[in-house]
Amino acid sequence: MIDVYDVTIIGGGPAGLYTAFYSGMRALKTKLIEAKNDLGGVVTQFYPEKTLYDVGGIVKITGEELVDQLVQQAETFQPNIVKNQVIDHLERQEDGIFKLTSTNGDVHFTRKIILAVGCGTFEVNKLQLDGAEHFEGSGLFYAVRHVQQFAGKEVVISGGGDGALDWAAELAPICRQVTVVYRGEQFTHALEHQVERLKKHAVDVKLDSEIVALSGSDQLESVTVRDAVTEKEEHILTDALIVNHGFQYGLGGLEHWGLSLENNGIVVDQRMEASIKGIFAIGNAASYPQKFYLIAAGFVEGPTAVNSIKQDLDPEAPSQAMVSTHHERWHEQLD
Ligand SMILES: Cc1cc2nc3c(=O)[nH]c(=O)nc-3n(C[C@H](O)[C@H](O)[C@H](O)COP(=O)(O)OP(=O)(O)OC[C@H]3O[C@@H](n4cnc5c(N)ncnc54)[C@H](O)[C@@H]3O)c2cc1C
Repeated sequence: MIDVYDVTIIGGGPAGLYTAFYSGMRALKTKLIEAKNDLGGVVTQFYPEKTLYDVGGIVKITGEELVDQLVQQAETFQPNIVKNQVIDHLERQEDGIFKLTSTNGDVHFTRKIILAVGCGTFEVNKLQLDGAEHFEGSGLFYAVRHVQQFAGKEVVISGGGDGALDWAAELAPICRQVTVVYRGEQFTHALEHQVERLKKHAVDVKLDSEIVALSGSDQLESVTVRDAVTEKEEHILTDALIVNHGFQYGLGGLEHWGLSLENNGIVVDQRMEASIKGIFAIGNAASYPQKFYLIAAGFVEGPTAVNSIKQDLDPEAPSQAMVSTHHERWHEQLD
Protein backbone atom coordinates (compact mmCIF):
# COMPACT_ATOMS: atom_id res chain seq x y z
CA MET A 1 0.00 0.00 0.00
CA ILE A 2 1.66 3.23 -1.09
CA ASP A 3 1.46 6.33 1.07
CA VAL A 4 0.23 9.23 -1.07
CA TYR A 5 0.62 12.82 0.17
CA ASP A 6 -1.57 15.74 -0.91
CA VAL A 7 1.43 18.01 -1.17
CA THR A 8 5.15 17.33 -1.33
CA ILE A 9 7.35 20.38 -0.85
CA ILE A 10 10.85 19.95 -2.26
CA GLY A 11 13.33 22.20 -0.44
CA GLY A 12 13.56 23.05 3.26
CA GLY A 13 14.70 26.67 3.02
CA PRO A 14 12.63 29.55 4.44
CA ALA A 15 10.03 29.29 1.66
CA GLY A 16 9.58 25.51 2.00
CA LEU A 17 9.41 25.64 5.81
CA TYR A 18 6.78 28.35 5.99
CA THR A 19 4.78 26.58 3.27
CA ALA A 20 4.82 23.32 5.24
CA PHE A 21 3.18 25.23 8.10
CA TYR A 22 0.58 26.87 5.87
CA SER A 23 -0.20 23.56 4.18
CA GLY A 24 -1.07 22.25 7.64
CA MET A 25 -3.38 25.24 8.13
CA ARG A 26 -5.25 23.94 5.06
CA ALA A 27 -5.36 20.39 6.49
CA LEU A 28 -3.35 18.98 3.59
CA LYS A 29 -1.31 15.83 4.15
CA THR A 30 2.17 17.28 3.72
CA LYS A 31 5.70 16.03 3.19
CA LEU A 32 8.82 18.20 2.97
CA ILE A 33 12.02 16.83 1.43
CA GLU A 34 15.40 18.55 1.89
CA ALA A 35 18.69 17.65 0.18
CA LYS A 36 20.92 18.62 3.10
CA ASN A 37 21.11 17.37 6.64
CA ASP A 38 20.18 20.84 7.93
CA LEU A 39 17.00 22.79 7.25
CA GLY A 40 17.06 26.52 6.51
CA GLY A 41 18.45 26.65 2.94
CA VAL A 42 21.00 29.33 2.15
CA VAL A 43 20.34 31.05 5.49
CA THR A 44 21.77 28.04 7.33
CA GLN A 45 24.49 27.35 4.79
CA PHE A 46 25.79 30.88 4.24
CA TYR A 47 24.72 33.33 6.93
CA PRO A 48 23.47 31.78 10.18
CA GLU A 49 25.06 34.55 12.26
CA LYS A 50 24.12 37.48 10.06
CA THR A 51 21.48 39.79 11.52
CA LEU A 52 18.39 40.25 9.34
CA TYR A 53 16.44 43.49 9.58
CA ASP A 54 13.98 43.04 6.71
CA VAL A 55 11.65 40.27 7.83
CA GLY A 56 8.22 41.81 8.43
CA GLY A 57 7.29 42.27 12.08
CA ILE A 58 10.72 41.26 13.40
CA VAL A 59 12.99 44.20 14.17
CA LYS A 60 16.15 42.10 14.07
CA ILE A 61 16.98 38.42 14.19
CA THR A 62 19.97 36.26 13.29
CA GLY A 63 19.67 33.79 10.42
CA GLU A 64 19.96 30.88 12.84
CA GLU A 65 17.23 32.22 15.15
CA LEU A 66 14.92 32.78 12.18
CA VAL A 67 15.47 29.22 10.95
CA ASP A 68 14.79 27.85 14.47
CA GLN A 69 11.47 29.73 14.51
CA LEU A 70 10.59 28.58 10.99
CA VAL A 71 11.35 24.93 11.80
CA GLN A 72 9.27 25.12 14.99
CA GLN A 73 6.41 26.70 13.05
CA ALA A 74 6.72 24.18 10.20
CA GLU A 75 6.36 21.33 12.70
CA THR A 76 3.04 22.68 14.08
CA PHE A 77 0.85 20.27 12.11
CA GLN A 78 3.41 17.43 12.05
CA PRO A 79 4.32 17.24 8.36
CA ASN A 80 6.62 14.39 7.36
CA ILE A 81 10.07 16.00 7.09
CA VAL A 82 12.67 13.99 5.17
CA LYS A 83 16.32 15.15 5.09
CA ASN A 84 19.39 14.15 3.09
CA GLN A 85 17.48 13.38 -0.09
CA VAL A 86 18.01 15.10 -3.42
CA ILE A 87 14.90 14.74 -5.57
CA ASP A 88 15.94 14.03 -9.08
CA HIS A 89 13.38 12.13 -11.10
CA LEU A 90 9.69 12.72 -11.85
CA GLU A 91 7.12 10.38 -13.29
CA ARG A 92 3.37 10.85 -13.60
CA GLN A 93 1.41 7.64 -13.13
CA GLU A 94 -1.74 6.80 -15.08
CA ASP A 95 -3.89 7.72 -12.05
CA GLY A 96 -2.37 11.25 -12.07
CA ILE A 97 -0.25 10.69 -8.94
CA PHE A 98 3.32 11.95 -9.18
CA LYS A 99 6.15 9.55 -8.33
CA LEU A 100 9.31 11.34 -7.18
CA THR A 101 12.62 9.52 -6.95
CA SER A 102 15.63 10.77 -5.06
CA THR A 103 19.25 10.19 -6.05
CA ASN A 104 19.52 7.51 -3.34
CA GLY A 105 16.60 5.59 -4.91
CA ASP A 106 13.84 6.39 -2.38
CA VAL A 107 10.41 7.05 -3.90
CA HIS A 108 7.64 9.44 -2.79
CA PHE A 109 4.05 9.61 -4.04
CA THR A 110 2.10 12.84 -4.12
CA ARG A 111 -0.91 14.55 -5.69
CA LYS A 112 0.77 17.93 -5.99
CA ILE A 113 4.34 19.20 -5.85
CA ILE A 114 5.69 22.53 -4.60
CA LEU A 115 9.24 23.26 -5.72
CA ALA A 116 10.96 25.42 -3.08
CA VAL A 117 14.42 24.53 -4.32
CA GLY A 118 15.99 28.01 -4.46
CA CYS A 119 18.80 27.93 -7.01
CA GLY A 120 18.92 24.15 -6.62
CA THR A 121 21.47 22.10 -4.80
CA PHE A 122 24.68 23.94 -4.08
CA GLU A 123 28.18 22.68 -3.34
CA VAL A 124 31.16 24.82 -2.44
CA ASN A 125 34.18 24.83 -4.75
CA LYS A 126 36.80 22.96 -2.79
CA LEU A 127 40.50 23.68 -2.62
CA GLN A 128 42.17 21.81 -5.48
CA LEU A 129 45.20 20.55 -3.57
CA ASP A 130 46.27 16.97 -2.92
CA GLY A 131 45.41 15.90 0.61
CA ALA A 132 43.28 18.99 1.37
CA GLU A 133 40.32 16.84 2.46
CA HIS A 134 42.49 15.43 5.27
CA PHE A 135 42.27 18.83 7.03
CA GLU A 136 38.53 19.43 6.54
CA GLY A 137 37.15 20.26 9.98
CA SER A 138 40.65 20.23 11.55
CA GLY A 139 41.87 23.57 10.27
CA LEU A 140 40.34 23.79 6.78
CA PHE A 141 36.87 25.38 6.55
CA TYR A 142 34.59 26.29 3.66
CA ALA A 143 32.22 28.51 5.65
CA VAL A 144 32.20 30.65 8.75
CA ARG A 145 29.18 29.33 10.60
CA HIS A 146 30.20 30.58 14.05
CA VAL A 147 32.53 33.57 14.16
CA GLN A 148 33.58 32.99 17.79
CA GLN A 149 35.16 29.63 16.98
CA PHE A 150 38.03 31.63 15.40
CA ALA A 151 38.51 34.06 18.31
CA GLY A 152 42.19 34.61 19.22
CA LYS A 153 43.40 32.50 16.26
CA GLU A 154 45.66 33.11 13.30
CA VAL A 155 43.50 32.75 10.22
CA VAL A 156 44.24 32.68 6.48
CA ILE A 157 41.38 33.36 4.07
CA SER A 158 41.70 32.27 0.44
CA GLY A 159 39.52 34.17 -2.04
CA GLY A 160 38.80 37.72 -3.14
CA GLY A 161 35.03 37.89 -3.56
CA ASP A 162 32.46 39.64 -1.39
CA GLY A 163 32.09 36.68 0.95
CA ALA A 164 35.83 36.30 1.59
CA LEU A 165 36.23 40.00 2.38
CA ASP A 166 33.17 40.10 4.62
CA TRP A 167 34.60 37.20 6.63
CA ALA A 168 38.01 38.91 6.81
CA ALA A 169 36.47 42.14 8.14
CA GLU A 170 34.27 40.31 10.61
CA LEU A 171 37.05 38.08 11.95
CA ALA A 172 39.83 40.68 12.07
CA PRO A 173 38.68 42.36 15.34
CA ILE A 174 38.58 39.03 17.22
CA CYS A 175 41.50 37.12 15.64
CA ARG A 176 45.20 37.44 16.46
CA GLN A 177 45.97 37.79 12.75
CA VAL A 178 43.98 37.59 9.51
CA THR A 179 45.70 37.17 6.13
CA VAL A 180 43.81 37.25 2.83
CA VAL A 181 45.37 35.42 -0.11
CA TYR A 182 43.93 36.20 -3.53
CA ARG A 183 45.21 35.26 -6.97
CA GLY A 184 43.89 38.44 -8.65
CA GLU A 185 45.99 41.61 -8.85
CA GLN A 186 43.15 43.53 -7.17
CA PHE A 187 39.75 42.91 -5.58
CA THR A 188 37.57 43.56 -8.62
CA HIS A 189 34.27 42.52 -6.97
CA ALA A 190 34.86 44.23 -3.62
CA LEU A 191 33.02 47.31 -2.46
CA GLU A 192 35.12 50.27 -1.38
CA HIS A 193 33.94 50.06 2.22
CA GLN A 194 35.02 46.39 2.38
CA VAL A 195 38.60 47.24 1.36
CA GLU A 196 38.62 50.15 3.85
CA ARG A 197 37.53 47.80 6.64
CA LEU A 198 40.44 45.47 5.85
CA LYS A 199 42.88 48.38 6.10
CA LYS A 200 41.32 49.60 9.35
CA HIS A 201 41.78 46.19 10.97
CA ALA A 202 45.34 45.68 9.63
CA VAL A 203 44.41 42.59 7.62
CA ASP A 204 47.47 41.33 5.75
CA VAL A 205 46.56 41.13 2.05
CA LYS A 206 48.57 39.04 -0.43
CA LEU A 207 47.45 39.72 -4.01
CA ASP A 208 48.66 37.82 -7.11
CA SER A 209 49.13 34.88 -4.75
CA GLU A 210 47.68 31.47 -4.14
CA ILE A 211 47.92 28.66 -1.65
CA VAL A 212 49.97 25.81 -3.08
CA ALA A 213 50.39 23.46 -0.10
CA LEU A 214 49.01 22.67 3.34
CA SER A 215 50.98 21.08 6.13
CA GLY A 216 50.37 19.66 9.55
CA SER A 217 49.82 16.23 11.04
CA ASP A 218 46.23 15.80 12.22
CA GLN A 219 45.64 19.53 12.54
CA LEU A 220 46.51 22.12 9.89
CA GLU A 221 49.64 23.98 11.01
CA SER A 222 50.77 26.07 8.04
CA VAL A 223 50.02 26.98 4.44
CA THR A 224 52.45 27.71 1.62
CA VAL A 225 51.64 30.81 -0.39
CA ARG A 226 53.14 31.37 -3.82
CA ASP A 227 53.50 34.86 -5.30
CA ALA A 228 52.80 34.56 -9.05
CA VAL A 229 54.85 37.68 -9.91
CA THR A 230 58.04 37.01 -7.90
CA GLU A 231 57.54 33.20 -7.89
CA LYS A 232 58.61 33.23 -4.23
CA GLU A 233 57.01 30.86 -1.74
CA GLU A 234 56.26 31.74 1.87
CA HIS A 235 55.11 29.52 4.77
CA ILE A 236 52.47 31.05 7.01
CA LEU A 237 51.75 29.44 10.36
CA THR A 238 48.00 29.27 10.82
CA ASP A 239 45.29 27.77 13.02
CA ALA A 240 42.68 27.91 10.29
CA LEU A 241 42.39 28.25 6.54
CA ILE A 242 39.01 29.48 5.34
CA VAL A 243 38.41 28.95 1.63
CA ASN A 244 35.82 31.01 -0.23
CA HIS A 245 36.13 30.08 -3.92
CA GLY A 246 32.43 30.33 -4.76
CA PHE A 247 30.02 27.46 -5.25
CA GLN A 248 28.38 25.33 -7.92
CA TYR A 249 24.63 25.24 -8.09
CA GLY A 250 21.99 23.93 -10.40
CA LEU A 251 18.56 22.38 -10.61
CA GLY A 252 20.13 18.99 -11.45
CA GLY A 253 17.59 16.40 -12.56
CA LEU A 254 14.72 18.93 -12.25
CA GLU A 255 16.01 20.62 -15.43
CA HIS A 256 14.87 17.57 -17.40
CA TRP A 257 11.29 17.48 -16.13
CA GLY A 258 10.06 19.62 -19.06
CA LEU A 259 9.27 22.70 -16.93
CA SER A 260 9.45 26.10 -18.57
CA LEU A 261 12.58 27.83 -17.20
CA GLU A 262 13.88 31.42 -17.36
CA ASN A 263 16.40 33.53 -15.37
CA ASN A 264 17.59 30.34 -13.57
CA GLY A 265 14.06 29.94 -12.25
CA ILE A 266 10.84 28.06 -12.92
CA VAL A 267 8.21 30.05 -14.79
CA VAL A 268 4.95 30.28 -12.81
CA ASP A 269 1.56 31.92 -13.27
CA GLN A 270 -0.31 33.98 -10.65
CA ARG A 271 -1.35 30.76 -8.82
CA MET A 272 2.39 29.89 -8.60
CA GLU A 273 1.70 26.96 -10.92
CA ALA A 274 4.47 25.94 -13.31
CA SER A 275 4.09 24.85 -16.93
CA ILE A 276 3.29 21.27 -15.82
CA LYS A 277 -0.14 21.11 -14.13
CA GLY A 278 0.06 20.08 -10.52
CA ILE A 279 3.61 21.38 -10.04
CA PHE A 280 4.09 24.75 -8.31
CA ALA A 281 7.21 26.80 -7.60
CA ILE A 282 7.85 29.37 -4.85
CA GLY A 283 10.64 31.37 -3.21
CA ASN A 284 13.88 31.91 -5.09
CA ALA A 285 13.00 29.04 -7.45
CA ALA A 286 10.03 30.89 -8.94
CA SER A 287 10.26 33.26 -11.89
CA TYR A 288 7.56 35.78 -12.91
CA PRO A 289 7.46 39.49 -13.77
CA GLN A 290 8.49 41.72 -10.82
CA LYS A 291 9.77 38.71 -8.83
CA PHE A 292 11.90 39.78 -5.85
CA TYR A 293 14.42 37.58 -4.06
CA LEU A 294 13.79 38.09 -0.37
CA ILE A 295 12.72 35.70 2.36
CA ALA A 296 9.44 37.64 2.60
CA ALA A 297 8.55 36.72 -1.01
CA GLY A 298 8.35 33.00 -0.15
CA PHE A 299 6.03 33.78 2.78
CA VAL A 300 3.43 35.01 0.26
CA GLU A 301 4.12 32.69 -2.65
CA GLY A 302 3.90 29.55 -0.46
CA PRO A 303 0.36 30.26 0.79
CA THR A 304 -0.69 31.23 -2.76
CA ALA A 305 0.51 27.84 -4.05
CA VAL A 306 -1.11 25.96 -1.14
CA ASN A 307 -4.46 27.77 -1.56
CA SER A 308 -4.42 26.97 -5.30
CA ILE A 309 -3.71 23.31 -4.51
CA LYS A 310 -6.47 23.17 -1.88
CA GLN A 311 -9.02 24.43 -4.38
CA ASP A 312 -7.77 22.04 -7.09
CA LEU A 313 -8.16 19.09 -4.70
CA ASP A 314 -11.41 20.35 -3.17
CA PRO A 315 -13.25 22.90 -5.33
CA GLU A 316 -15.72 23.53 -2.46
CA ALA A 317 -12.93 24.65 -0.09
CA PRO A 318 -12.68 28.36 0.77
CA SER A 319 -10.08 30.26 -1.22
CA GLN A 320 -7.83 30.76 1.81
CA ALA A 321 -7.37 29.47 5.35
CA MET A 322 -9.15 31.20 8.22
CA VAL A 323 -6.78 33.64 9.89
CA SER A 324 -4.95 31.91 12.74
CA THR A 325 -6.95 33.64 15.49
CA HIS A 326 -10.18 32.05 14.12
CA HIS A 327 -8.62 28.82 12.92
CA GLU A 328 -9.97 25.54 14.28
CA ARG A 329 -6.82 23.47 13.68
CA TRP A 330 -4.75 26.13 15.32
CA HIS A 331 -6.85 26.07 18.45
CA GLU A 332 -6.61 22.26 18.60
CA GLN A 333 -2.82 22.76 18.78
CA LEU A 334 -3.07 25.30 21.58
CA ASP A 335 -5.64 23.41 23.68
C1 LIG B 1 24.63 36.04 1.64
C2 LIG B 1 23.14 36.23 1.52
C3 LIG B 1 22.50 37.14 2.34
C4 LIG B 1 21.11 37.33 2.25
N1 LIG B 1 20.50 38.22 3.07
C5 LIG B 1 19.14 38.35 3.04
C6 LIG B 1 18.47 39.25 3.92
O1 LIG B 1 19.10 39.96 4.71
N2 LIG B 1 17.11 39.31 3.87
C7 LIG B 1 16.37 38.55 2.99
O2 LIG B 1 15.14 38.63 3.00
N3 LIG B 1 16.98 37.71 2.13
C8 LIG B 1 18.34 37.59 2.14
N4 LIG B 1 18.97 36.74 1.26
C9 LIG B 1 18.12 35.99 0.30
C10 LIG B 1 17.43 34.82 1.00
O3 LIG B 1 18.38 34.04 1.69
C11 LIG B 1 16.69 33.97 -0.04
O4 LIG B 1 15.75 34.80 -0.71
C12 LIG B 1 15.95 32.81 0.63
O5 LIG B 1 16.85 31.97 1.32
C13 LIG B 1 15.19 31.99 -0.42
O6 LIG B 1 14.58 30.93 0.25
P1 LIG B 1 14.14 29.60 -0.51
O7 LIG B 1 13.54 28.72 0.51
O8 LIG B 1 13.38 29.96 -1.73
O9 LIG B 1 15.52 28.97 -1.08
P2 LIG B 1 16.83 28.44 -0.37
O10 LIG B 1 17.12 29.18 0.87
O11 LIG B 1 17.86 28.43 -1.45
O12 LIG B 1 16.50 26.93 0.02
C14 LIG B 1 16.31 25.95 -0.98
C15 LIG B 1 16.50 24.58 -0.36
O13 LIG B 1 16.14 23.59 -1.32
C16 LIG B 1 17.04 22.49 -1.20
N5 LIG B 1 17.03 21.76 -2.49
C17 LIG B 1 17.43 22.24 -3.70
N6 LIG B 1 17.26 21.30 -4.66
C18 LIG B 1 16.75 20.20 -4.03
C19 LIG B 1 16.37 18.89 -4.48
N7 LIG B 1 16.47 18.54 -5.77
N8 LIG B 1 15.89 18.00 -3.57
C20 LIG B 1 15.78 18.36 -2.25
N9 LIG B 1 16.13 19.59 -1.77
C21 LIG B 1 16.60 20.49 -2.65
C22 LIG B 1 18.38 23.16 -0.90
O14 LIG B 1 19.27 22.23 -0.28
C23 LIG B 1 17.95 24.30 0.04
O15 LIG B 1 18.00 23.92 1.39
C24 LIG B 1 20.35 36.56 1.31
C25 LIG B 1 21.00 35.62 0.49
C26 LIG B 1 22.37 35.47 0.58
C27 LIG B 1 23.05 34.44 -0.32
